[in-house]
Amino acid sequence: MKRLKNYIRGFFQPPISGAYLPDYEPATGEVLCELPDSDERDIEAAVTGAQAAFPVWSGWSEAQRAGALQAIADGIEARFDEFVYAESDDTGKPVSLARSLDIPRAIANLRFFAGLLQGFGGESYQSTAAGYSYVLRLPVGAIGAISPWNLPLYLFTWKIAPALAAGCTVVGKVSELTPLTATLLAEVIDATTLPKGAFNLVHGLGAKTGAAMAAHPGLTAITFTGGTETGRRIALAAAPLFKKLSLEMGGKNPYLVSADTDYDAALETALEAAFRNQGEICLCGSRIYVEKPLYDRFRSDFVERAKTLKVGDPRESDTRQGALISAGHFEKVLRYIELAKDEGGRVLCGGEPVKVAGRCSDGWFVAPTVIEGLPLECRVNQEEIFGPVVSITPFEVEEEAIRLANGTRYGLAATIWTQDLGKAQRMAGCLDFGVVWINGWMLRDLRTPFGGMKESGLGREGGYEALRFFTEPKSVTVGR
Ligand code: NAD
Repeated sequence: MKRLKNYIRGFFQPPISGAYLPDYEPATGEVLCELPDSDERDIEAAVTGAQAAFPVWSGWSEAQRAGALQAIADGIEARFDEFVYAESDDTGKPVSLARSLDIPRAIANLRFFAGLLQGFGGESYQSTAAGYSYVLRLPVGAIGAISPWNLPLYLFTWKIAPALAAGCTVVGKVSELTPLTATLLAEVIDATTLPKGAFNLVHGLGAKTGAAMAAHPGLTAITFTGGTETGRRIALAAAPLFKKLSLEMGGKNPYLVSADTDYDAALETALEAAFRNQGEICLCGSRIYVEKPLYDRFRSDFVERAKTLKVGDPRESDTRQGALISAGHFEKVLRYIELAKDEGGRVLCGGEPVKVAGRCSDGWFVAPTVIEGLPLECRVNQEEIFGPVVSITPFEVEEEAIRLANGTRYGLAATIWTQDLGKAQRMAGCLDFGVVWINGWMLRDLRTPFGGMKESGLGREGGYEALRFFTEPKSVTVGR
């Protein structure tokens, strides 16, 4: 059985405890490899390494750091297929999605922050009373990056690229459910000229390895993406140490369709928004609201399309829906479908596991599921399911659509479909979400701030926001 290693101070190392955890392939239910069950001693070693490397790495010029990020991107590109298959095997997502979304975006993240760095700087002011002031932006030091399993390399690089660009050194931990591509990334980094210790990777469980990172005083900032309850735990551990925190958390996103919309585009995009990556994207539109005059037509077309999405072996090119990440998550999604029935919902399609023939017969597959007749207040409309399950509901007027959309504790991303630009802009202003799409979904300009409001997030990633997070402003004023 293949055993992954940690990457600490430029060396691939076994965990100090000598203990390992199984990593399962969701499409088959079989163990793919084992990963280190690291503890606070491994984190201690990684933090010491990152702190030692900080003066060296932060002393590199911006052009040198940008060059290093480009070299990492080149290294991923050179092993592109290996990354694609590792990501698909580890997550259960279709190979076609890893090829078109995950790995290209990871490369893009590195190249984007390499470029953005050249234009990053502090502001300056001048006044008669206070003289001339300028703001230095200095890297905060060694930081911790903790990421989830749904878009493993995509989200991990989204954190480490701006951190390294800003001059910080990194202790990274990816989800224990998806350790493969981060390990490949460590191999790629190892082959570049990055100083030893600038990037460290420690595998392990959230409650042990991740918690040790959140509580370690040597990590001056923690950037986290994952569930809201985990974010709360990290905040509780990190707040007494006054660490900087960036928390990207759960969502329960509304997808609003007005009667005056471009029907075909709204329908096709709704399928993507509901079911891309098996619905395991924090941005998925899991609550669909359709204006009354269009409701019956939209509902029946949407259900018909959902039934045609092929659930199957992630390696087959026509597969649209792969496996769910784990046996536990599979059970959780099915429990929510049962709960929906108890809460008065009608299952219009799906609602059950899918048995895939051949090598995937023991995989964790669930059919795309559409449920009607659920009130806003019920648990299925309030809690994040994070699977291929959506509710669909009619609305009468714009105000009602806004009330329904805003009616959960989450505030990550909302989508509006309408041909009426005035209405779209009015609604965008009233929606309590960090991201709003008008006539589109998951469109991303990496320069824009990304993150959630309410219990979906604290702080923003993306563009200069990310570089600001990983730097400390220092105001310098020159008297006359
Ligand atoms: P999770 O919170 O269980 O785990 C995320 C990471 O945190 C993993 O690396 C895990 O090991 C670690 N972790 C767990 N407990 C920890 C603790 N006590 N201390 C420190 N680290 C700990 O989330 P998940 O199940 O991996 O991912 C799914 C969740 O992520 C969903 O809620 C989804 O909405 C969210 N997500 C949000 C975004 C966003 O941008 N807002 C993007 C992707 C996923």
